[in-house]
Amino acid sequence: MTQHIAIGVDIGGTKIAIAAADREGYLIGETTLPTQPRDGASVTIARTADAIRMLAAKRPIAGIGIACPGPVDPAAGVAVRAVNLGWQDVPLRALLQAHLNVPVEVQNDLNAGTLGELVFGAGRGVSNFIYLAVGTGLAGGAVINGKLLNAHKGAAMEVGHISLNPAGRQCNCGTRGCVEMYLSGKGVLAGAAEYLTAHPNSSLTGVTLSTGAIIAAAKAGDPVGTRVIDDAAEALGATLAWCVTILNPPLVILGGGLWAAAGDLMLDKAKEAMRVRVLPEVYATLKIAQSQVKSSALGAAALVYQAGFFPA
Ligand SMILES: [Zn+2]
Repeated sequence: MTQHIAIGVDIGGTKIAIAAADREGYLIGETTLPTQPRDGASVTIARTADAIRMLAAKRPIAGIGIACPGPVDPAAGVAVRAVNLGWQDVPLRALLQAHLNVPVEVQNDLNAGTLGELVFGAGRGVSNFIYLAVGTGLAGGAVINGKLLNAHKGAAMEVGHISLNPAGRQCNCGTRGCVEMYLSGKGVLAGAAEYLTAHPNSSLTGVTLSTGAIIAAAKAGDPVGTRVIDDAAEALGATLAWCVTILNPPLVILGGGLWAAAGDLMLDKAKEAMRVRVLPEVYATLKIAQSQVKSSALGAAALVYQAGFFPA
């Protein structure tokens, strides 16, 4: 008998990543295609369906998980507002099911990433944890009592837009001093640009600013690079303090591109910035782990396992 497979689809601004996994969660194939959002959602999803058929290669599909940026209505299977894609109220489940008659789950990309850690990653077997993705931006997800915390409109754990300082850096959400303006690729770039004027002797003066250049400068002890990474660590400590105080998880999972590149520079300072803000017993029992699911599409496939779509 041919074994059913799970398909995960991660829809990004420039590319769509698709993964196929077997019943045990082993990755058995991957592909990507350009998103080309200007074609419109119907065309994009039709191309996605073709790519899924190719990848599945006639193996039966138990279900498809779609991870999409921005707010999502999981019950309706609708992408509510994906700014980078120019999508508003796009019925992803219905569009995909018009091509492939299988169960489809739709989730916000960070929530899907969180489920990915629960099903395949550092959160396996853990009923309560939070996941923070420190990348170009900052966002997170939480698993509470074994279930994804969806809350109202699926926008729980949008921690990037908690304001650390209402007089701080302007964020494009309209608020000032958001965590994301310090702890993210975007925040690191903004910080370096801001601090360079006071440090003309910085090794970053005259350099095209990139997160890579800033991290390298911080590693070399440059004052601007160091200050920017220290700000990010401080913001992470404060964010963790709020999250663990409100949700009381025994585990925090940290991931994302900036964390992968500079987490070692931030970890000790972030832990200290958290320690001074939380109850001693909360700090003493908290574990911090690295994210283990590197493929966002595999994270999306976790939706299929979580929904129980595999036939008995
Ligand atoms: Zn903001």
